[in-house]
Amino acid sequence: MEDLRLSALPALADNYIWLLADAGGDALVVDPGEAAPVQRALAREQLRLRAILLTHHHPDHVGATAELAAATGARIHAPHDARIAASDVRVGDGDVVQLATPALRFDVLAVPGHTSSHVAYHGHGLLFCGDTLFSVGCGRLFEGTPAQMLASLERLAALPGDTLVCCGHEYTVANCAFARTLDPDNAALAARAAQAAALRQRGLATVPVSLAEERACNPFLRIDAPALVAALGHADDRVARFAALRQRKDDFRMPAA
Ligand code: ZN
Ligand code: FE
Repeated sequence: MEDLRLSALPALADNYIWLLADAGGDALVVDPGEAAPVQRALAREQLRLRAILLTHHHPDHVGATAELAAATGARIHAPHDARIAASDVRVGDGDVVQLATPALRFDVLAVPGHTSSHVAYHGHGLLFCGDTLFSVGCGRLFEGTPAQMLASLERLAALPGDTLVCCGHEYTVANCAFARTLDPDNAALAARAAQAAALRQRGLATVPVSLAEERACNPFLRIDAPALVAALGHADDRVARFAALRQRKDDFRMPAA
């Protein structure tokens, strides 16, 4: 990243609002579900909010958009979805978001699965992926099919390995606990689980995380690994295997500590 400052602002129960600022103090936020954490950060760091990027319509991602835009004049970039009322620029797959201030450029990728109109933004070595890809997990399939979500995740996983994954929630510890039930001999996953637990104990975020690390640890990106084929079955049907994995995660409950 060239002279950019990236912060994960904790919001609501377990959301992150991503704040990205240039050296001159111009900034954007991604998925502001709550205004106060953004307003506090803008004041503390003396930043001007110029742009808001939205990944999908869920209230925990868009809730403070209109309030922040009214307070700052920031321009709102949102996917084509009537459920997102406040928007200045609609974006879809293949579009480029080119901001004047901060001078940043992002490619828009359609990533249906969690919702039908979900998009991700990729640029400057960063991936803002909302509730599509989480660290060691992925979003629930509220509107899309397993085939759609698998294709969306594989598109994201094909980006450069040093890309930093900036996801919408802090779910890493629970995701690691689930992943280890299926992939118990994965040393990279064991290390990630220990690191994430230590970070959370200190109240720190476990993200961003590199895409290379996700490829090594995230079961939803590893459905072809022998351990996962063995655990999930459906050896000759990747979509069925992925669907089985997502179902197991939906049914998983954290063991009592
Ligand atoms: Zn969501
Ligand atoms: Fe969410």
